[in-house]
Amino acid sequence: MNFQFTAEQELLRKSMREFAETQIAPLVEEMERTDKMPLDLVKKMANQGYYGVTIPQAYGGSNLGHVARLITLEEVGRISAAVSMSLQCLQFGGGCLNNSGNEAQKQKYIPDFIRGKNNAAAAITEATGGSDPSATATEAIEHDDYYLLNGRKVFITNSDIADMAIVLAKTKDEPKKEFSTFIVDKSMAGFRAGRVENKIGFKGCGTGELIFDNCKVPKENLLGKPGQGLAIALKGISEYGRVGIIGVALGIMQASYEAALKFSRERVIYGKPISNLPAVYYRIAEIYADIEASRLLAYRAVWLLDQGKNADVEIAAAKFFVTEAALRCTRKAMDIHGGYGCVKEYAVERYCRDAQLLIPADGTNDIQRTVVGRTLTASKK
Ligand SMILES: Cc1cc2nc3c(=O)[nH]c(=O)nc-3n(C[C@H](O)[C@H](O)[C@H](O)COP(=O)(O)OP(=O)(O)OC[C@H]3O[C@@H](n4cnc5c(N)ncnc54)[C@H](O)[C@@H]3O)c2cc1C
Repeated sequence: MNFQFTAEQELLRKSMREFAETQIAPLVEEMERTDKMPLDLVKKMANQGYYGVTIPQAYGGSNLGHVARLITLEEVGRISAAVSMSLQCLQFGGGCLNNSGNEAQKQKYIPDFIRGKNNAAAAITEATGGSDPSATATEAIEHDDYYLLNGRKVFITNSDIADMAIVLAKTKDEPKKEFSTFIVDKSMAGFRAGRVENKIGFKGCGTGELIFDNCKVPKENLLGKPGQGLAIALKGISEYGRVGIIGVALGIMQASYEAALKFSRERVIYGKPISNLPAVYYRIAEIYADIEASRLLAYRAVWLLDQGKNADVEIAAAKFFVTEAALRCTRKAMDIHGGYGCVKEYAVERYCRDAQLLIPADGTNDIQRTVVGRTLTASKK
């Protein structure tokens, strides 16, 4: 067994950390206040090649793989969960196109996406319930050389900055429903962003509606074949969405750990730093153990992806474990801060608000347990 990152991955981590600390950290306060993503930052991340980490070089990516992607998200998430969330979703769009697009679609969309000219969103969830994509009501009616798309998606990350979206829609109704995925871009009339939610966290990363109102989507923008929509969406959600959330969670945990450690060494009561109190160092030990366990689960799951293996179960298990560990760690970090943990001057309250959003995103943790539990009990192994 080899638990070491490669020299290339270490280099990537170092450069990501530097980028996050110098380019993102100074913007966090403003993002918390305005709840807006600075578009200059989105461009800068594109210029650094962060969108194309898993994309082949033929389309302008760096093809470093899923482990490398997780490293980028963890390092960005350590400074800003909101930026990491936005980045993971941008990577999701490109990843889905790369997984399921045909050559013409890849040539048309991916290079611009990697250059930051085509901000992507993944539009699956509807008000009918994110846990049940088979209840998708957005319809795509087939015409001669186009589909007419009508419907409304909710809770879509990057809805406010998206130039394009991968959209799940119903292409056949009862008695045998069929779903397909489409690439919809802003050049198509009838595609627009709607309301943006006022969330408790991820301030700066928009989550809101995408609306399709008699939107004409050329047939060449069908992703995969008609009827493959659910399979395409679920593959994207697992390999890019859930892994993305795991990356954001790891970043939040590391930030909580560092904040807890620093505060415990600096805060003096009874004439000594509180790091001398067992109640404090036990919590720090628990945070540390949660991070280590989370990293092992998470990096093994993405390592499997890099080996070309299916890792749906490992990813789902990591998603519920890591995100719940993140929530535990942020709470413990807040507790260590005493009253200061509830004061905005200390970032731990932000980590805690952000961590809660990880639980429903990209499939609630009940759904992750369902994926894992059903697969394990169905298997004869
Ligand atoms: C920050 C954030 C970002 C998001 N980004 C995107 C995005 O970019 N694109 C996108 O398409 N969606 C996105 N979502 C939506 C997200 O995927 C959904 O919120 C999620 O799938 C849950 O759907 P819901 O909110 O409608 O809850 P519901 O599906 O209504 O679930 C409600 C409750 O019922 C439980 N439940 C439902 N079904 C089962 C079951 N079978 N077994 C056990 N319990 C069950 C759930 O666990 C939950 O507790 C985002 C959500 C958040 C919070």
